[in-house]
Amino acid sequence: MAASKKTFQRLLVTSALPYANGHIHLGHIAGAYLPADIYVRYQRLRGVKALYVGGSDEHGVPITLTALKEGVTPKEVIDRYHTANAEAFQRLGISYDIYGRTSWPLHVNTTQQFFNTLNAAGYIHTEEMELWYSPQLERFLPDRYVKGVCPKCGYTDANGDECESCGAQYEAHELLEPRANIPGDTSSPILRQSRHWFLDLPKFRDHLKTWLDSHPEWRANVKGIAYGWVNDLRTRCITRDTDWGIPIPVDDPDVANKRIYVWFDAPIGYVTNTRQWAIDNLNDENGWEVWWKDQDTRLVHFIGKDNIPFHAVIFPAMLMGQQDYILADNVVGNEYLNIFNRRTGQSEKGSKSRGNMISVRWAVDHLSVDAIRYYLCAIAPETRDSDFDWDEFMNRYNGELCDVVGNFVHRCLTMTVKNFDGCVPPADALEENDRAMLDAIPRQLDAIAEALEGFRFRQAIERFIELGRKANVYFDAMKPWVTRKTDMERTGATLYVCCQVVKALCCAMAPFMPEGAGKLADILNITLPKNGPDGGPDAWQEAITLLPVGSPINKPEALFPKLDKDQLAELAEAHERGEAT
Ligand SMILES: [Zn+2]
Repeated sequence: MAASKKTFQRLLVTSALPYANGHIHLGHIAGAYLPADIYVRYQRLRGVKALYVGGSDEHGVPITLTALKEGVTPKEVIDRYHTANAEAFQRLGISYDIYGRTSWPLHVNTTQQFFNTLNAAGYIHTEEMELWYSPQLERFLPDRYVKGVCPKCGYTDANGDECESCGAQYEAHELLEPRANIPGDTSSPILRQSRHWFLDLPKFRDHLKTWLDSHPEWRANVKGIAYGWVNDLRTRCITRDTDWGIPIPVDDPDVANKRIYVWFDAPIGYVTNTRQWAIDNLNDENGWEVWWKDQDTRLVHFIGKDNIPFHAVIFPAMLMGQQDYILADNVVGNEYLNIFNRRTGQSEKGSKSRGNMISVRWAVDHLSVDAIRYYLCAIAPETRDSDFDWDEFMNRYNGELCDVVGNFVHRCLTMTVKNFDGCVPPADALEENDRAMLDAIPRQLDAIAEALEGFRFRQAIERFIELGRKANVYFDAMKPWVTRKTDMERTGATLYVCCQVVKALCCAMAPFMPEGAGKLADILNITLPKNGPDGGPDAWQEAITLLPVGSPINKPEALFPKLDKDQLAELAEAHERGEAT
């Protein structure tokens, strides 16, 4: 899976906007956020002009249903969770350039412009539909406001528009044995006519197909779902009977109690948030356009599996209908992170009702950010679902990051500080072994870079650990703790080489474990550049330039403190008691 052949001037990365109706959890992070953050941090290190855009999705039924069930207003729900999730992302080191909100007035403007352009070009029309209606509450029951039996698989808790059990999507009237999903509503829903606005997706079939055909390098799961949709395109309803959302910008008496469907406005949030970023940072109302309309911008979406149709078919069609927008160069879709239940020995889906999810706020209160990021990247659900498993968490973090990388760094730097007065030793006596180790550094960095460019994050972090393993093999073979008793010149040459590996490890760990990289850079007295949307020097290349003889090195501290068994058991038990949500 090669990276795109075209060279670009700048990179725009988006992560799916999570609903602001609950706390962000580690399942979300492993899918759409950590891979994106690692990718952006890597590209920034390379000096690429990179902009990373995210934010809250604050419309739709999930928000209003949460408000209804908690007895508060939708505004209270989104204010609470937007703030909480922005903070959780920040604490985990997810390095957005902006974390915006779809409730911003600017977003009404962007969304209505999209709608108007599509409407003027003949891509939107209205249709009469039969929808579920509550006679008791005298309101329509869109999407999850109605529950019933799935017409495809018979699951009894299916939503009005889709089944969480088998993944089927269907028309409202196909749902069997409908019941209102609103506290206190005991009436039986009835079908009633309502007029809605539709996006004419079949008109984009040829363009979508040509575009998908031009990206054979995409992941198989994304291509599979995208082609499945493109080969069976239907008009898609883009409005709902609700008063929470963006008003439909047409002069029509029917629009009063209807709003634009959340799945139309949510991806437009990427554009809105880029606009707001340009206003805030460039003081330029048009500064966003180069990021969305210049053919030399590379757009990459990071998403979970459930969002693939929206980012690989529907949003691209909406962009095609605008005429002057670029299309994504890659849509990186991840599978799901499940939870390994230690009591049953089974893997289970993370769910609110089970209370088995691990929120980011809980995780960062109890674990180091680097430990969380290391484990989630090492088990990233790239091509198939994976399990969060506490025992594996400890084994991999302790056994790989602490024992292989942390331990090597500590041994090398401690000996250097002790025996060579806190300076990189002279390298007058380099031998074949030493040169082989030095030669391995750029090769290993290239291997990590190649994996990252190809969106293979598990492979990238494995190759990072591999550099640590090679360094340990070298260190153990050269035995500087033995040679120091008889041959300081030899010992100096060994530690000189080890210091160069430590510098490379510092740079290579920065995208994955930013806290550890920052600490290590301080110990080595080097600076990792904080490149942003303006680009900068290529620090990845800089990593292979050698630390000069005599460079000062500070007394090392432990980069990655080990987790002990008791500590881990306490965390796992708290999780099992449902306290980690
Ligand atoms: Zn089903």
